[in-house]
Amino acid sequence: MEQIDQLSKLINKATSIVILTGAGVSTASGIPDFRSTDGRWTADHSREFYTSREYFLTEPEDFWLKYKEIFRIKLLKDYQPNKVHTFLSNLETLGKKVSIVTQNVDGLHSLAGNEQDVIEYHGNLNTATCPKCGKKYDLPFIMKEDVPVCNERGCHTILKPDIVLYGDPITKHSEAERAIESSELMLVLGTSLLVTPFSLLPSYAKQMGLPMVIINRESTPMDYLFDLIIHEELVSAVEQLEERL
Ligand SMILES: [Zn+2]
Repeated sequence: MEQIDQLSKLINKATSIVILTGAGVSTASGIPDFRSTDGRWTADHSREFYTSREYFLTEPEDFWLKYKEIFRIKLLKDYQPNKVHTFLSNLETLGKKVSIVTQNVDGLHSLAGNEQDVIEYHGNLNTATCPKCGKKYDLPFIMKEDVPVCNERGCHTILKPDIVLYGDPITKHSEAERAIESSELMLVLGTSLLVTPFSLLPSYAKQMGLPMVIINRESTPMDYLFDLIIHEELVSAVEQLEERL
């Protein structure tokens, strides 16, 4: 495929790459896409309400029950990185400087071995933090009780998950912009670029003059920004690409 050839040339030439990843990267690991047309969010709009900052602040106990149900968090620890994650960690092994800005909350990029710069733009499902004292807790602790509560002496505050809830501020945007500024190539994988402000990042890369490539099954409203647009299954595209690097 000619486009894959062109992409492999761009990757070979670049010493630093910023990669934006979305739900399409995780679906190959069996993790459902929450926002696609056949995804879980569209099936039931109340999910958005139950995972909002407002609902957490007003009904924290019921919030946790709904949250665990919605994210099937009990199963999450069994998910493993797939070929796309491995491909991105191999880029580091090849000596590239790799920054990943991900919308995914499953922590799989780090698990796959990317250790230079993984920016979890929408947070991480595998940890929770005490809003009062700031103590952080891992998944086994979060799952032990229906409603996880801080165990610091005299604190006993209900924990808040480390994902960005609807209504929470996005705190990683400027960090993502710094990653773009220090990169020579932008690669966008498996996201329809429908969620702001994440969807603004390709425009910023365009302003910075980076060559831009997107691989996504469907077209996106931002396709016009890209030099190379590959509408293909991600795993298949990555397999073809690996043969050429
Ligand atoms: Zn606490």
